[in-house]
Amino acid sequence: MSRSALAEQHPWTLPWWKAEGENRWVLIYLLAVHALALVGIALFPLPGWRLFLSALIVASMGGFGTTIGYHRALAHRAVKLHPIVEQFLVFCAVFNGSGAPNTWIANHRNHHANADTIDDVSSPRHGGFWWAHLLWLYQWEPSPMKKWCPDLMRPRFMTWAKLQIPLILISIFFGYFLFGWAGLFWMGAIRLVYCLHMQAFVNSLLHLKPLLAEGVDSSQNIWWLGPLQLTAWGENWHGNHHALPASACFSRRWWQIDLGWYAIRALRALGLATNVRVHKK
Ligand SMILES: [Zn+2]
Ligand SMILES: [Zn+2]
Repeated sequence: MSRSALAEQHPWTLPWWKAEGENRWVLIYLLAVHALALVGIALFPLPGWRLFLSALIVASMGGFGTTIGYHRALAHRAVKLHPIVEQFLVFCAVFNGSGAPNTWIANHRNHHANADTIDDVSSPRHGGFWWAHLLWLYQWEPSPMKKWCPDLMRPRFMTWAKLQIPLILISIFFGYFLFGWAGLFWMGAIRLVYCLHMQAFVNSLLHLKPLLAEGVDSSQNIWWLGPLQLTAWGENWHGNHHALPASACFSRRWWQIDLGWYAIRALRALGLATNVRVHKK
């Protein structure tokens, strides 16, 4: 099917295995990393606490990279990070399988601008749960960077797209050199699959309100996702975030734990984060 013919139909009507152009690589990556993770679980169901904690720490760094680096700092400009902190967080996000910064941010700004309409990149209302969770990652045409993130079309962001494949390969295999074969699977594919699904919940579960009318805000907070989502610190307050997207703080109540926000406050105290925007209702 030609690209124009594909564009004329809603992409969520395609069979799950259809992907075009560079999106094929995303599909191949998703299949490969899930297959490796399953093999890892079968061979090494109990990793031992040292390996488990090490994998969790790497996953958590990826979570900070995505929620602070990509989401709050670059996509919404809710905080200005010291360039070294910013680049380190971008590294953590790429290493964790979140993709290159420009791709992520273009899609995310597009999502906010068109949330819950037919043009939303990842609406579960229109495409269903699996569309919003994973399929959009390789079946939606990438959001044009010139339109959605012209401010990021600079070498210090664009270069990460070229580094992405080698970094992901290192990310999959580096655990072998620290913990042997069990390390390869737990530090690599199992961690990446866990992080992928926890972050995918932001687009799927946190927008899953199928009975709402077209265009009505579907974003919601789910408190119990917080403890599960160690890879997306504070992203479970997604309803709060859609209400005030320019705020660096996602919590609105004292009991809403938002580790991404606490880290931003720590960075601000150290002089590594400035221009922190907070909007309370
Ligand atoms: Zn959203
Ligand atoms: Zn956002």
